[in-house]
Amino acid sequence: MKKTLLFALFALLFMGNIHAEEDKAKHVIFIGLDGLGSYAMDKADMPNVRHLMADGSYTLEKRVIIPSMSAPNWASMFMGVGAESHGFYSNSGSVSYQPTFTNENGIFPTVFSQFRKKYPDGEMGCFMEWDGIRVLIDQKAFNKTQYVSYSKTGDQACAEAAAKYIREKKPNLFFIQLDQIDHVGHGDGHNTPAYYAALPVVDKQVGILMQAVADAGIWDETVFVISSDHGGTGKGHGGISMEELRTPFIICGKGIQKGHQITEPMVQYDVAPTIARILGLDEPECWRGKAAKVFSEANADIHNYVNGICTDEDCKNPYEEPQLADGCYQLANAGNLIWFGKRVNFGFTDINAVMTADIDLEGTAWTPICERNATNPYKGTFDGQGHSILNFFCDAPAQEITGASFIGGLRGTLQNLSIHGKIVASGARNSVVGYADAQSLVSNVHSYLEIDATKMKSNDTGGVIGSLGVGAEVDRCSFSGTLTVSGNSYDGFGGIVGWTNSGRITNCANYGTLTCTGLAKCELGGIVGGVSSKDFYVFSHNLNVGSVTNTAANPLYTNALIGHLSRCRVENEIANNHFLAGSAAQGIGGSGAREEAISANNAQLSGGEITYLLNEGRTDSIVWYQTLGEDNWPVLFAGHKTVYKSENGTYHNGEDAINMQAADKTGKSSSATYTLKGQKVSQTTKNKDIYIVKGKKVLK
Ligand SMILES: [Zn+2]
Ligand SMILES: [Zn+2]
Repeated sequence: MKKTLLFALFALLFMGNIHAEEDKAKHVIFIGLDGLGSYAMDKADMPNVRHLMADGSYTLEKRVIIPSMSAPNWASMFMGVGAESHGFYSNSGSVSYQPTFTNENGIFPTVFSQFRKKYPDGEMGCFMEWDGIRVLIDQKAFNKTQYVSYSKTGDQACAEAAAKYIREKKPNLFFIQLDQIDHVGHGDGHNTPAYYAALPVVDKQVGILMQAVADAGIWDETVFVISSDHGGTGKGHGGISMEELRTPFIICGKGIQKGHQITEPMVQYDVAPTIARILGLDEPECWRGKAAKVFSEANADIHNYVNGICTDEDCKNPYEEPQLADGCYQLANAGNLIWFGKRVNFGFTDINAVMTADIDLEGTAWTPICERNATNPYKGTFDGQGHSILNFFCDAPAQEITGASFIGGLRGTLQNLSIHGKIVASGARNSVVGYADAQSLVSNVHSYLEIDATKMKSNDTGGVIGSLGVGAEVDRCSFSGTLTVSGNSYDGFGGIVGWTNSGRITNCANYGTLTCTGLAKCELGGIVGGVSSKDFYVFSHNLNVGSVTNTAANPLYTNALIGHLSRCRVENEIANNHFLAGSAAQGIGGSGAREEAISANNAQLSGGEITYLLNEGRTDSIVWYQTLGEDNWPVLFAGHKTVYKSENGTYHNGEDAINMQAADKTGKSSSATYTLKGQKVSQTTKNKDIYIVKGKKVLK
């Protein structure tokens, strides 16, 4: 009894204690994804892996060791050296030649061997879907090793068994090898649809392991490591193509730098020293790798930021991370906005942001948010809160679905934003929002962009939205910029929307200048270029006063509101739309309901009549405003004044009108004369424009 106690004391004094160093993580969960090549990461649908990338440090440039096969590379990750040292040159299940060093278990020292040396009582487990891993890990060092055969039916048996172990044993060091990606690479081939289809399945297994860590209550003390042994090309690997040689390394958790891209070169044998550094393990003399520079203290950023952008040359974080409040990023400067865009493009497509100030991008070339395609659009809410983005500039080359834009693909909400700057259109769907698909809402967005569609072939480009999908809604938006189309460009161009297939467009105004020239073939409209209505759409309460000019050799359609409306159905709601007479030949082109495009002259527009009509005679809960004498036409800004109609048919901003109307109800003053401001005239003068109100001359 006494002897046991003494031994325990001895152990405490001279052996490491996993809980001794409070600043270090106490658990490392190492997830090996066999056969995942970095070439696939751009298209990979792997939200859990992306979460770890974004929240931690990563590189997609980790180099495999030669040969680019499984056993040699897993061995290097565990053993901190290349194949020339550890001796595993094939998948034969044993060393091909004598290693440079072996430990007491007869194997080249692994990170697992080093863990056991330091922590005799620590918990360490290994799960694998390929039992070739067994000979590489120094099995005797482990508390638990388990092989769970990979099944083509895509079951998650290995991940689930491992998750159970994590929940029960809370391992300090844990490794799992998941084999499905490599299987698909050999079966259907690398870089094939089947390969990309396997990635989310394996990502789900990563999620099961992450959940287990959370369930075990050790999340805050854990570092996750994700690594791969090789990529592949065709139906295999082992060669020296970059598709085989480039692999991801992702590390995330306690003490690890967040949002950091590892820029130093990294090789498989740097993995073991990195894990050793996390757990405070001794790195044996025979190792050759170096720990990756991923630790928070190594990356402490003391750099200078101006407008949220780092001004030093060696910045670890070039853009200032915005504050997060109530689940919403608070964007206060250019760096915050660029950071947010990168974050969304990282795969966080449902995060929200509000602008807390006007943001001057200073002409920095913008990478569209969710530019790639419509299958992974932005799903969050971006609220400008009435602020402006200034000096926006985007000339991003055309993508699969969208071109140059602020948000390429939108399935969420963009609202309360003004945007100034320039877009160079390229390919399809260029605008503030390239493509707004079903369920999206673009509301109270005011574009002052100069949109240049003359440089490259482009189509379906608008002042606010390039293309508006089925069921999408745009309300209370305006365009006050220029849209210039020439060259080989073709199809829909509009002040608000380039082209739509059954969207809803309400309360929008074009004040901008739209021009189509040269060889371009435009469906050009002040609000919408082209409409193809298959199911339903609403087009009401819109206004065009901007000039819509088409001098192209083949001017297809040129109209003040809708360039070309095809296949109009009776159930479509087209009502209460107005345009300045002469802004284009007619309101709506094609087979549309032309009577619902109402031509107005300058006097009607400047005098308040059209504002009143757009509000359908309402003076509360209104959308359109106009400060008479200042605004030449209806505007969408609530800071401007409400338009009232006098009983004598004139329009005015006066609050007196309410009192006047109340007085009218008594029937006493119905024959009185009023000024345009609603003031009761006590005396007329010889000059028709001057009245006397309360003893003073006033202008009519
Ligand atoms: Zn492999
Ligand atoms: Zn393989």
